[in-house]
Amino acid sequence: MIPPSWREEVLTLARTVHLQVDRDGRILDAIGDTDTLLDEPREALIDRPLHELADPRVRLAATLIEQFSILAPEPGQTRAVETDACSVYALSDSSVALRLTSEASHDDGVIRRLADRLPVMVAYVDPDGRFRLNNQAYLDFIGLSREALYGRPVSSVLDEASYAKVAPRFRRALAGEEVTYEDRLTLADGRIVYFKVHYVPDYIDGEVAGFYAIIQDISEYGAMIQLLRDVHTGINRTDIDTREIVEQLLEDALAYLSLEIGLISRIEDERYTVWWAASRGPEIAPGTTFPLGDTYCRLVLDEADVFHTVRAGEDPRISGHPCYQAFGLESYIGIPLRVNGRVWGTLNFSSAAPRGRPFSEIEEELLRLIANATERVITHEVEFERVRRERDRMANRAMTDHLTGLPNRSGLEHRIEGLMQAREAGEPPFCLAMLDIDHFKVINDTHGHDVGDRVLRWLGERMAQCLRDGDLVARTGGEEFVIVMPGASQRAAREIVERVRTHVRRGRVSLDDGQEIGVTVSGGIGEHQPGESYPGLFRRTDAALYAAKRAGRDRTHLAACPA
Ligand code: GH3
Ligand code: MG
Ligand code: MG
Repeated sequence: MIPPSWREEVLTLARTVHLQVDRDGRILDAIGDTDTLLDEPREALIDRPLHELADPRVRLAATLIEQFSILAPEPGQTRAVETDACSVYALSDSSVALRLTSEASHDDGVIRRLADRLPVMVAYVDPDGRFRLNNQAYLDFIGLSREALYGRPVSSVLDEASYAKVAPRFRRALAGEEVTYEDRLTLADGRIVYFKVHYVPDYIDGEVAGFYAIIQDISEYGAMIQLLRDVHTGINRTDIDTREIVEQLLEDALAYLSLEIGLISRIEDERYTVWWAASRGPEIAPGTTFPLGDTYCRLVLDEADVFHTVRAGEDPRISGHPCYQAFGLESYIGIPLRVNGRVWGTLNFSSAAPRGRPFSEIEEELLRLIANATERVITHEVEFERVRRERDRMANRAMTDHLTGLPNRSGLEHRIEGLMQAREAGEPPFCLAMLDIDHFKVINDTHGHDVGDRVLRWLGERMAQCLRDGDLVARTGGEEFVIVMPGASQRAAREIVERVRTHVRRGRVSLDDGQEIGVTVSGGIGEHQPGESYPGLFRRTDAALYAAKRAGRDRTHLAACPA
């Protein structure tokens, strides 16, 4: 088993001091652990004459410099001398570099001083899984003193499940293997972290005496990767609807940013409406509105990009703004949402509490990304809504009579179809009445077509006044109307239609010239029979109408039973 090379290197570096000396023998610079090797801090060495130092290696070096004329080498003369204890080299600017090497063996003090300066966490774990060394970065992260941690088992700083994950990796390191992994771990204090870890076995006399754990906290990176994954899979999901996708995005971002409230707002005419909401605190109902000027979004829109604060009360941009008085949110990050190039609303996350750390550039970028995904989802929804409205409008137009606004023949048929299906499912029968204006031609001929139109519109409204919700009146032709009465028997239907007829004959249409005219209608009434087709019912009812006309008009007749 060969000890890892890096350790030897570190130890060599730790045991070496480089001094640069000018022509006059003064120290220009010192690099390395001068405290340990020369018993002097680096600063105390600068500018000192070399011969003032008592260290035997320095003395040897000074002798060598002189002996070999290192400071002013003749062409062809040697420019470097090396011994076990020290080496001297002539440099191109006529100064000399000295390297002093200590023979000190394993020195934990040096290792510790070195380790404490590293920005990563370093721990030394013995074969019993106990800490024997923790560098400053590690102590800062765990929040315990060196003494408190010394000798403690590693299992005490991790939660049980996380320790179960890392214990087999300990065993591999203790068996002499270098182990590298990245993992999401839960600490004993509940913190969830992403660590990138490297275990390096330590050998003494060929036996593993423990291992160094070199740990990088990549929590922000790990959490971000997770969020990016969530955002990516989220917006491409087809198994849930738009609203759920957006809610999921809000939830994910909220957790990542460690804030309380996530909102998507719709901004129209200086009003702010909550469109979607995710909250870890009080419930916020979508549809809630505020004057835009009172919200933090006013500031977001002014910024036209990401706007944030973690201490609004101390932030001169916000502390005097109405939004701070209205909501008192200390932490806030928001960004405008644009659909088809225009501001549609905002995406924002906030919290009543100040946030411990300021928003990072990564978090700003993340907000832009989520805003982008949200804009895509909203654009989709807005477009979908537009198409749906257009389709409904067209369908409606196809089923509506222009002149009266009543359903036309298609509208009537659509309704009858529904009633026929309901009948098959066991609903009670329905009745149909066909009504036709008496001598309508005379009105057109006497007063003109415009007056005829006005009479038709008036009649539609007049008839509707006598009907219940659920009944329907349609204009099926020139001056012909059909009334549908679901659930009505033939007798009840006749009463209804008689009421309509009377109501019509009592009414008057006012003309522009002050004249008033009235109309009468004739009607046929038929009850749908089990299994009867729509054309069959229509024919029977039409025949009853014809009979009413022939009988003198301004009356209703019941349809004959089907043959
Ligand atoms: P009857 O009592 O037998 O039903 O006599 P009528 O005059 O009402 O019947 P006829 O079918 O002879 O005439 C219907 C008239 O309705 C003819 C047509 O000019 C008129 N008409 C049809 N559609 C419209 C319309 O949209 N506007 C106007 N102003 N008149 C219409
Ligand atoms: Mg007529
Ligand atoms: Mg007619």
